[in-house]
Amino acid sequence: MVLDSLGESLRSTLKKILRSTRVDKELIKDVVRDLQRALLKADVNVRLALEISKKVEKRALEEKPPPGKSMRDHLVRIIYEEIVRILGEEKKIELKRQKIMLVGLYGQGKTTTAAKLAKFFQRKGLSVCLVACDVHRPAAYHQLKQLAEKVGCGFFGIENEKDALKIARESEKYVKDYDVKIYDTSGRHSLEEDLIEEIKNLKKIIKPDEIYLVIDATMGQQAGPQAKAFHDAVGITGVIITKLDGTAKGGGALSAVAVTGAPVVFIGVGEHIEDLEHFDPPRFIARLLGMGDLQTLMEVAREIEMDEKRAEETAERLLSGKFNLKDMYEIYAELAKPGFLKKILSSLPFLNLLPQAQQPDEEEFARKLRKYRVIMDSMTYEELENPDIIKGSRIDRIARGSGMRPSDVRELLKEYSRMKSMMKSLKGNRRMMRMLKKQLRGFEMGGV
Ligand code: GDP
Ligand code: MG
Repeated sequence: MVLDSLGESLRSTLKKILRSTRVDKELIKDVVRDLQRALLKADVNVRLALEISKKVEKRALEEKPPPGKSMRDHLVRIIYEEIVRILGEEKKIELKRQKIMLVGLYGQGKTTTAAKLAKFFQRKGLSVCLVACDVHRPAAYHQLKQLAEKVGCGFFGIENEKDALKIARESEKYVKDYDVKIYDTSGRHSLEEDLIEEIKNLKKIIKPDEIYLVIDATMGQQAGPQAKAFHDAVGITGVIITKLDGTAKGGGALSAVAVTGAPVVFIGVGEHIEDLEHFDPPRFIARLLGMGDLQTLMEVAREIEMDEKRAEETAERLLSGKFNLKDMYEIYAELAKPGFLKKILSSLPFLNLLPQAQQPDEEEFARKLRKYRVIMDSMTYEELENPDIIKGSRIDRIARGSGMRPSDVRELLKEYSRMKSMMKSLKGNRRMMRMLKKQLRGFEMGGV
């Protein structure tokens, strides 16, 4: 995946936070140092890296977490938000009829990207035509034509024609029925006067809705000044950063372009036609940090919180005979994790003690867990800690509150008694204790 090493260092920083017993000044300083190092390694500008780590430090020291959130969750959120911030705003891609002109220097990936964009819009149900306006490279016409055939979209070009303006003019009639027209243009080794002139003239004829500058990510921070120069010269509406798959400097290119105020619209992440992604900073960073979205991260956070120490405590508590509904719920939550049941059933001794008929399958477990969760949500804290007090009118109240039947509540209580007496029978069994500790540690860590 893109920016692997940045992702890796950020993920290990997050793990450090989530595994810590508490968030104090020392941890914050440590984390900020890690963050800085990770950003610099990804080629993010020194000043920018300092700025973001200062901001994280300040917020972490001053802000209180929102109600119901731990400081740990909040620190993770601060880091996430500040990294997202340096990547700028997302530019929405409108799925409408439009003309897109691609500009950029030699070898940055314009022609490849033209085909990738064609595929992108085609997949969204729009018809696309590629127009070959690169008249400087002899092979450009054929390269684009072949790509158009591969994508299965329209193509317009005039072989051996040296006047880009003429091609643009003549294409008009041909392309008018397509929804999306994408114009590939010539590059130069640098932004020279005659390239500026050519782009300006093409712009007058084509009247594009979007002018996207295509930049190679291996340029690192240099992508920033280049985006600015192009913007000042011809006015661009967005930047496409290519070859993010092949460089550790991607962080530099992305952040440097964002600083110029030109939104990064798409990123190229490989040589294939499918290797193009719409750039959405929050989602990009979420993925980099190894989470589907922030919600998932917070869930992961809670999972990791159950660290080695806690595994030991849980094991001790379970085997000391102090076993309440909350403990049972925790065990069920572990078991409901996909794929875990098989692993556990084969190795966790206390489950094997259940009669065969009660050794549940994964789906049943998940169902049961959901039901129990709903019921337990209607219990008071006192009831969860001392399930023995749940009798008579309490059962009716809990059933009403959770929308379940009293018999469901009784079933939960029965299950609890069964597990409790099983735990009791294991009390003082040192060998069992060791095994249980090992198990709890094993699958909690494995779940991260
Ligand atoms: P142009 O001169 O700007 O039109 O650049 P081309 O489209 O011809 O691309 C130059 C080279 O970069 C080609 O070899 C492409 O295969 C390669 N390329 C373009 N985009 C990407 C990308 O996102 N990832 C990788 N790995 N290679 C790319
Ligand atoms: Mg080209």
